[in-house]
Parts: sequence; structure tokens; C-alpha cells
Amino acid sequence: MNKQYNPYEDMLEVLDEAAKLLGYDEHDYITVKYPERELKVSIPVKMDDGTIQVFEGYRVQHSGLRGPYKGGIRYHEHVDMDETKALAAWMTLKCAVANVPYGGAKGAVRVDPSKLSRGELERLTRAYTVAIMPILGPEIDIPAPDVNTNAEIMGWIMDTYSKSKGYSVPGVVTGKPVELGGSLGRAAATGRGVMYTARNLMNVLGMKPEETKVAVQGMGNVGATSALLMHQLGCKVVAVSDVSGGIICEDGLDIPAIVEFINHKRRLLKDYKNDKVRFISNEEVLTADVDMLIPAALQNQITEPIARKLKAKVIVEGANGPTTADADKILNERGIIAAPDILANAGGVIVSYFEWVQNIQNLYWDEDEVNRNLERIMNRAFEEVYALSQEKKVSLRLAANMIALKRIVAVQKIRGIFP
Ligand code: GLU
Repeated sequence: MNKQYNPYEDMLEVLDEAAKLLGYDEHDYITVKYPERELKVSIPVKMDDGTIQVFEGYRVQHSGLRGPYKGGIRYHEHVDMDETKALAAWMTLKCAVANVPYGGAKGAVRVDPSKLSRGELERLTRAYTVAIMPILGPEIDIPAPDVNTNAEIMGWIMDTYSKSKGYSVPGVVTGKPVELGGSLGRAAATGRGVMYTARNLMNVLGMKPEETKVAVQGMGNVGATSALLMHQLGCKVVAVSDVSGGIICEDGLDIPAIVEFINHKRRLLKDYKNDKVRFISNEEVLTADVDMLIPAALQNQITEPIARKLKAKVIVEGANGPTTADADKILNERGIIAAPDILANAGGVIVSYFEWVQNIQNLYWDEDEVNRNLERIMNRAFEEVYALSQEKKVSLRLAANMIALKRIVAVQKIRGIFP
């Protein structure tokens, strides 16, 4: 029951179940159970007050079987190697579900970036980039934004790498500012993909947007974009939260106003003023009386007690690993349908792939083309996962893991074990 939460163990539990359903022996997929490379670095940073602080950083390259290592960089005060390993493995699976030609990786720095000045943040980013540089490169390993990192930070990574080479290498990182070769549509891509997944799920379940109440946990880039696009789709977004807590309005929140409020000088929801909203806890957002829950914050949010209490009929995972393996069993027992992270939030890495392709070809797309291709790939991935889940009578999470594992194992078989 109260076992210590370990996201890597959770990832393995689902993977093993998917392998069993595929009829694999352990030796068929054993390589996928171990990250190929784990790098831990110490990052000394000159602080504004003249002292030197040393931060801990990680870059895990989980699998390079299907292509270059790919995955975001997270800045968070509680991140550790196990979390980074799980996130890297989920990238491998996500890229395989979306069928983009990448492996999986993830990077992280153990830091609360809200406590750093802009100068400190830049020096930390550049020092981290130098520390992991031996394993980075546009054909090797390509970072991107994740929790608490953004286009500006990606720009510093691109500049640091490029300066060390002596020429511009835009393809070393994705999610960059458009001026540096970033793709149009990349900033909104993950949230847009969440919306496409939610729409596909509503379609197959016969849910009408105008009759669908939604709660969104997390108002970072993914949560805010998802909330806005679900609102534009005609759904009633009734509850949202951020690190400061949640707000609810049964008649529907004014999402455009809220997004504008928090985007302006990165304000917190606790300071949002509107007579119609009530302030609630983060847990109350997760268990709000809604039809759809979109967790878009961190891992380990939908735990067993939350899974027992939550009222949503469907969950669309904008975050990575928001549902623990044990909680997932309860959701299945209760007939709650979850579109898993490796399917639902793949929009980010899909448009990262477009960005990288544009960088390599030096040929840039307009936003329409980006969104059209994103929609096509998200729809195809959903159809494949949904069809398999119907055929095998398994959850969407297991179906997505089965599709991913099958694609990875197929490549492993052809490539073989060297030497
Ligand atoms: N951090 C995002 C994710 O978890 C995007 C990764 C990428 O674009 O490489 O999917």
C-alpha cells in the first residue's frame, strides 16, 4: 500500500504488463528496461552576491534505438535521478507512440528557479549546458523545454553550444525563440496536442464539448494552453490550479482572462480577483465534480486516495506520469478512462521534431502547416491506440505502451545486440 513512490518502478510495472500482453519474454525487451547512459554533473554558479553555489544536474539517455536521444530539461528543487530516468523512458515510449524517429532522454537541474535572478538563471543554464555538452548534439541528443524551462533558456543552450563550436547550430535544441530558428506553433504544441486527444476521446465516447465540464491542474505552459483550447472548443472549464492553489466556478471560469492574468508578470492564481470564483485546494481541483480532468503539473498527483475520490469520467494527461501505477488500477476498476501521457502530451515533441527538421533543412514552415501536421500525427496515434485498446480490451495506457514497445523491440531485433 504505502510503498515509496518511485516513478521508474512505476514505468517498469506498466512496461512489463505491456510486454506480457505482447507475449514477449524478458530477453525480448530487456534493453528497454535500462537507461543506456546516466550522467550526473555538478554545476558551479557565481551568484549575484559573490558566493558560489554548486547545483546538481542530470542528463539521462534512455534509448537511442529509434533515433537521436530527445527530451526536455526540467528545473525543479525536488528532482532526482530516478525521476529523470523515468521521464527519459517516457520520452522513448512517447516518441515511439507518435512514431517520430527519436529515442528518449531527459535532463534536470535540482534548483528552484524562482529563487534565482535572471543573470543567475542564465549562468546556471550555460554551466549546465557545458557540463552535459560531451553528450549533446543535433545528431546525438537534443534538449527542449519542460517544467520551469522555456524558449529563453533554450536560446541560452543554443548559444552556449554554438559558441563552443564556433558556428550556429540551431538543431541542437528545440523550443527555441522563433528568431533563433524555433518553430512557429512549438510553444502551444503540447497543449494543442492535449486538446486534440481530448477531442478524439470525446468523439469516441459521444461526449459533447458544450456538455463537458473540465478541470485543469497546473497553469504552466501545458495547462494554460490546454485550458484555453478546451474553452475555445466549447467546453466549460470550471476549475484550475497552480502552485498557489485552485479556483472554481461551477458556471465556467473566464479562462482567457485568467490566462492573461497569470501570463502577465507570472502572477499566481491566489491573487486573481473575481467575485464569482471560490478558492479551493489543489486536491479539490483533482476531485472536482467535472467530466474531464486534465492533470498538467507534475508526476505523482493522481495517487490511490485521489483515484478513489475523483469524479471525472475521463482523464487526459498533459503532465508526465501524473497517475501512479497503483492509482491507475483503481481508475480501471472504476471505469475511468485515461488518455495516457505518452499519447496525450506528445504534441510537444512532435513539433520539436518539426522544428529540428526545419533547422536541418533550413526551410521554415508557416504555423498552419505545423498545426495541420501535428493534428494529423496526434489523430493517427490516437486511432492506433484506441483501436488496439478495443481489440485487446485493455486500457489506453496499456495499448499505448504495447504499440511503443512493439516498435522499439522491432528495431532492437533488426539492429541486434553489439558486440
Ligand atoms: N518536455 C516535453 C515532453 O515531456 C517536450 C520534449 C521535447 O520536445 O523534446 O514531452
